[in-house]
Amino acid sequence: MFSKILIANRGEIACRVIKTARRMGIRTVAVYSEADAGARHVRLADEAVCIGPAAARESYLVIDKIIAAAKSTGAQAIHPGYGFLSENEEFAEACAANGVVFIGPPVAAISAMGLKSESKKLMEQAGVPLTPGYHGDAQDSVYLREQADRIGYPVLIKASAGGGGKGMRAVWKNEEFADALASCKREAASSFGNDHVLIEKYLQRPRHIEIQVFGDTHGNCVYLFERDCSVQRRHQKVLEEAPAPGMTAERRAAMGNAAVAAAQAVGYDGAGTVEFIVDQSGVIYFIEMKTRLQVEHPVTEMITGLDHVEWQLKVAVGLPLPLAQDQLTIRGHALEARIYAEDPDKGFLPATGRLTHLVPPAESLHVRVDTGVEQDDEITPHYDPLIAKLIVWDESRERALARMLQALADYRIVGVISNVGFLARLVACPSFASASLDTGLIEREHAFLFSGEAGNEPPREAWLLAALAELLRDQNYGATKAAASGDPHSPWHRRDGWRANGAARREIRLRAGSREQVVTAAYQGSGFLLECAGRGTPAAGWLHDDGQMRADLDGRRLGVTVVAAGEKRHVFFDGMSFIFAAIDPLYHAGAGGGAEGSLTAPMPGKVIALLAPVGVPIEKGAPLLVLEAMKMEHTLVAPAAGTVKAFCYAVGEQVTDGAELLEFEPAA
Ligand code: ADP
Repeated sequence: MFSKILIANRGEIACRVIKTARRMGIRTVAVYSEADAGARHVRLADEAVCIGPAAARESYLVIDKIIAAAKSTGAQAIHPGYGFLSENEEFAEACAANGVVFIGPPVAAISAMGLKSESKKLMEQAGVPLTPGYHGDAQDSVYLREQADRIGYPVLIKASAGGGGKGMRAVWKNEEFADALASCKREAASSFGNDHVLIEKYLQRPRHIEIQVFGDTHGNCVYLFERDCSVQRRHQKVLEEAPAPGMTAERRAAMGNAAVAAAQAVGYDGAGTVEFIVDQSGVIYFIEMKTRLQVEHPVTEMITGLDHVEWQLKVAVGLPLPLAQDQLTIRGHALEARIYAEDPDKGFLPATGRLTHLVPPAESLHVRVDTGVEQDDEITPHYDPLIAKLIVWDESRERALARMLQALADYRIVGVISNVGFLARLVACPSFASASLDTGLIEREHAFLFSGEAGNEPPREAWLLAALAELLRDQNYGATKAAASGDPHSPWHRRDGWRANGAARREIRLRAGSREQVVTAAYQGSGFLLECAGRGTPAAGWLHDDGQMRADLDGRRLGVTVVAAGEKRHVFFDGMSFIFAAIDPLYHAGAGGGAEGSLTAPMPGKVIALLAPVGVPIEKGAPLLVLEAMKMEHTLVAPAAGTVKAFCYAVGEQVTDGAELLEFEPAA
């Protein structure tokens, strides 16, 4: 076995590889960009080498720097993780040329499967059914449009080198084709350095089912069953599970054998995934093969009890696969949810910032958290805003769902907005709960999933808990101050409402969304009588420094977390979370943010296209400008009918978070 390996990646996957390597007694070398100097993967590795500035193309994507790091540290092999250089044949070749083992398939298999268009040609020859489409070499836009017309709308334009749902555009009619093609090619060029595209018939509401395969250098190849990754947004997986609900033994064997045949056709070894979409009538189409470890591999690990990274390492040193097909079995059901720093209510806009309070659910045999961040770490705009992968396992799907809901309810994230609440609604929504799965699930369940501000209205208890936390925090503060003072028993330190003259009442003013309320507190025994919305409730409790609060509300004892960050109070209880602003009545800020409808950058990024004509009246919703941020394109649209007076930035310019992007004059 290797004694030292380098991990050419970052975030959760680098941490996950390090974990297995450590268990196997293998030393690890991390590489990191300047932005990741303090990152968790760097802290976990035995050694670490800085490979350049934050931008991935100047660090994590620079082959020479990574090879040099491997050589200077004496690493015998490189694990590429997923993304970055994991499917880059040039990188695999460079490893070989420098006598370092690439932990992945042979170069020939990467090149055969690396490009969607090439792999399709190969699969076509092998008789694997493909989605109808055009995957030839011609890239002329008029010709491509003719192909789309021939295939029939809707079609999907896909970057041949694409991945992670990026570089994909659905086109519903002929007139939209040219713009979509240009935008897709732009995104493909900037994200993958290759703007070659293919066109497919856009199937309506298919399921995405993929087969995990594993090969070795002795000619063995097995399948480790399937994963259902149908629950997606913008073609990006959100929830994954194994096994796929409703899968029959015959179909599983048929898909498994087809996947193994596909892998063997290209002389595959190591971990790979053969992806299919399945239409409503059950017809299976090959979409592509991923020649690396997948983000969602943990669900397969949970149902098979196997460690994929361990298998990869064994195959890479030339050992045979540890198990044969007939020794592999499925046990129970596993689910994975991708926890992202993003705002589901704002079109899943990625968020950045410091994770000022981060407590994941406790790990156990049932709950696994794969993460690259800890409390006080930062989600930066440079990379994917994934906070963690939350994986749960249980005997049945129903119980796994319950586990997932519990684990999501226990997640505490403060500092950046996350999709945890959204994921909880997703797991609970009727379609998902009843396993009626397809890629249109999120749109279909829109009303249930995106309840808008009204749905986030805190219940009365949440207001009381936020107020109680304020009172307890104040008491704790008084106690600390008293303990530190020369006269700890002075009545002036008391925080129990004692006053030199008169009754003690306090008003706590809170705001949630656009709603403001005052909770009045009267001191009563060792607790309070809280009055809110015309009703009184006895309340008491204690609050720990880390935000854990024990609350007795009207005789009911609740375990709650209330985290204060600036004027914000994050209240987590009963599987829900709410954000309040504590309003200081003595402080009068200017008349509100006024940011509504203003055309500022929602995150740091680069302006890549100016779409609206200057000085010409345009409609509400007309596209104004395209910003590239976090490796994705975001189109800003006109908030109302009006006119663009001027753009503040030219194409190619970098903008900071909140920067004014253009001058817009709404129509009178
Ligand atoms: P990526 O490499 O970016 O993950 P894929 O080709 O694997 O892209 O496709 C990602 C997802 O996009 C699929 O899981 C599926 O939901 C959707 N998709 C891909 N091709 C089609 C198609 N022809 N029709 C409908 N949906 C598709």
